[in-house]
Amino acid sequence: MREYLKFYIDGQWVDPVEFKTVETINPATEQVSGKIALGSTADVDKAVKAARKAFATWSRTTREQRLEVMQRILVQYQARSAEIAEAITEEMGAPASLAGSFHIGLGLGHLNTAMEVLKNFQFEEQRGATRIVKEPIGVCGMIAPWNWPINQITVKVFPALAAGCTMVLKPSQESHFSAQIFAEVMDAAQVPAGVFNMIQGKGSVVGAAMSRHPDIDMISFTGSNPAGVEISKDAAATVKRVCLELGGKSANIVLDDAAFAENVRKGVTGMMVNSGQTCSATSRMLVPKARMSEAIAAAREAAAAVTVGDPKGNVAMGPVVSKAQFNSIQEYIHKGVDEGATLVAGGVGRPEGLSKGFFVKPTVFANVSNSMVIAREEIFGPVLVIIGYGNVDEAVQIANDSEFGLAGNVAGADLDKARAVARQIRAGWISINDGFDFHAAFGGYKKSGNGREWGEFGFHEYLEVKSLLGYVPG
Ligand code: NAD
Repeated sequence: MREYLKFYIDGQWVDPVEFKTVETINPATEQVSGKIALGSTADVDKAVKAARKAFATWSRTTREQRLEVMQRILVQYQARSAEIAEAITEEMGAPASLAGSFHIGLGLGHLNTAMEVLKNFQFEEQRGATRIVKEPIGVCGMIAPWNWPINQITVKVFPALAAGCTMVLKPSQESHFSAQIFAEVMDAAQVPAGVFNMIQGKGSVVGAAMSRHPDIDMISFTGSNPAGVEISKDAAATVKRVCLELGGKSANIVLDDAAFAENVRKGVTGMMVNSGQTCSATSRMLVPKARMSEAIAAAREAAAAVTVGDPKGNVAMGPVVSKAQFNSIQEYIHKGVDEGATLVAGGVGRPEGLSKGFFVKPTVFANVSNSMVIAREEIFGPVLVIIGYGNVDEAVQIANDSEFGLAGNVAGADLDKARAVARQIRAGWISINDGFDFHAAFGGYKKSGNGREWGEFGFHEYLEVKSLLGYVPG
């Protein structure tokens, strides 16, 4: 049992202003796993005050001073990695192997990338007589989701820190433990008091207070569309910058010339990673209509190979995060059956042999039409839909026929053809044959958001641009 009843404000672990707690549930066992404190508007005020005070000095630190602090964080992060991974497994059910590799690795990747970028980042440039200066935006409010908890925190905190900003972080109430250890890492690394502050709590209370706060200069939000809309409305009166990283329903176009069965299998296995709770998951697989039965055979084989069970053990997939998430996914699976899609693997109910825990069967539907609910809405669970296309133009049209535009993948042997298809997809993060890069810009088109994180692009979210005209006398 873990008890995390203090917040990290102004370099200290402090009691909440009002004492309210909530029990946390382990999704694999459905047992109480601990207790956390829930913050209030008064806690937000305290944290913002500390961040504002710290901004005066942190914003004026040199590149070298920030790198020194980040180097200390790196040492502490590495020292606590195993504990963070364990916490992730316990709070949101990621298998130990996944938590210890990808979850931890993403955090490390964002830290190393932010340090690399900072070393050469151009904070100033001369354009004729004008000096363009990029200055830290100020106090940042960061509101994060639970699905890749440490990734979502680090992708915000490190670029903001490198840019010279101070911050108040509100992690998700579903991924409290890893966030707490992360704050301990920042404390142990002696990040100057007030630069990084963390409050646990509800979105509707702590998150909303941050969005409305007149002394928070920008909000970086990752999460669902409805919450993104609420945050934008709450923030509007203060005209602060709001960077949104929202949901997706991304397409994986398997071209006719691809190593077909292999790519279908890869697409299925990839969809089940993190129990399908990945914003950029390619949850719509597009295959040539004429090869649908081949795709079904390969998908069935791949789904059957996905082991599900106790995330502390050697499994590919653990539970989904919560009862609410489990119920919502079950409803979608029912809908898929009712809509007449072909159930290739999985289905409603828990996998065989599991009577407790929020475990979902790795599920694949084929012969899906893009107008079905299961093809249009983000299920955020281990459910893949396979849609047939007549020709490549139709594949592109189907991929783009979505209110989302976050990510995608194009699998094909002819690189020029794959590139041409990738260029036509209206989304922000398109892999060609599963390409990956920490320095690429991550973010969405359309209802998937308006922000760009990762690498150098993440820095710009935390910077204001100032023009100093007549800087060089004419
Ligand atoms: P969520 O929107 O329920 O919660 C995200 C965070 O917002 C939490 O910290 C929550 O407490 C807070 N929040 C909720 N309502 C709020 C409000 N009115 N005001 C302020 N804060 C509020 O999302 P979730 O269930 O934690 O995460 C899943 C969603 O996140 C999915 O839609 C997924 O696609 C999306 N996501 C997007 C990305 C991306 O980079 N685009 C990455 C990961 C997850």
